Amino acid sequence: MQPFKISRAADARSAVVTHGSDRGVAYIAGGTDLLGLIKDRAELPDHLLDINGLPAMTAIEDRPDGSVRIGALARMSDVAADPAVRQRYPVVSESLLFSASGQLRNMASIGGNIMQRTRCAYFRDGDGLPCNKRELGSGCSALQGIHRAHAIFGWSQSCIATHPSDLAVALAALDATVHVRGVHGDRVIPFSDFHRLPGSAPEKDNVLERGDLIVAIELAVRPEARTSHYLKIRDRQSYEFALVSTAAAVATDGRTIRSVRLAMGGVAHKPWRLGAAEEALRGLPLDDAGLLRNAIAKSFVNARPLAHNAFKVDLAQRCALRALQTAGARA
Ligand code: SF4
Repeated sequence: MQPFKISRAADARSAVVTHGSDRGVAYIAGGTDLLGLIKDRAELPDHLLDINGLPAMTAIEDRPDGSVRIGALARMSDVAADPAVRQRYPVVSESLLFSASGQLRNMASIGGNIMQRTRCAYFRDGDGLPCNKRELGSGCSALQGIHRAHAIFGWSQSCIATHPSDLAVALAALDATVHVRGVHGDRVIPFSDFHRLPGSAPEKDNVLERGDLIVAIELAVRPEARTSHYLKIRDRQSYEFALVSTAAAVATDGRTIRSVRLAMGGVAHKPWRLGAAEEALRGLPLDDAGLLRNAIAKSFVNARPLAHNAFKVDLAQRCALRALQTAGARA
């Protein structure tokens, strides 16, 4: 393991300045992903800046207008158990409870959760095989190697990895916002713009710049949010990343869909919204599985499966249908 020094950030402003001026500095909160990346030599910071003491960043604010602001340092288990989140955004609570283990959820922060890096074994193992995400220009071992768990949407010849966060899928479905303090001030990033597709720069998972510190995540009031559900399909029922997953949220008039939000995990380098399906589902009866299935299929006409993961195309559509039906049953 590469040696590093560790210091505590005194306040958010100085943390941003320190991180922004030195490429060797990494923020650490729960550290549940970062320490693994350091052990795997996938990240090699020489200075960990501990942000756990920053004030007000652990709060979960239940606001009078019905929205919820979650401090970036709030722990996964606290957010999952928060009454306002459970009641008004069950898809968020469920996505957290299906993640990791109880011990990890007690330790890991919300900001760190959406900063997780891919579980692609070629990236994590560091056994000398080419990986563009580790070393740009070296190649992608997964393309010709084992890629059962990899992307079916939005991949490039540079990288076919998927994003591992369950929470990110729920936040994408709800159009959450990420509040960031940076070297040039504060800004708000719509969740759908936060993570990026690999393109020719697979080393960049998201749009953050050096110095940027995630301060909070906000959940706005959405008519679909209360009737929502997160469904995760994985090789084993506990402590495993998603093969595919769906965050579904639906608003209804009686048993007719008024509006719906669908996002998928395990299928792309970022949470993947099913925009065409959302449009096609509007006005359909919730109880006609055939019509729902046909509408969901509209988002899969451009799927590009690889040799080992063609099964995901069918599995993902079944997952989306079941998540939607379960959310709909709560209406
Ligand atoms: Fe690396 Fe991405 Fe290829 Fe995996 S899929 S080996 S992370 S470049």
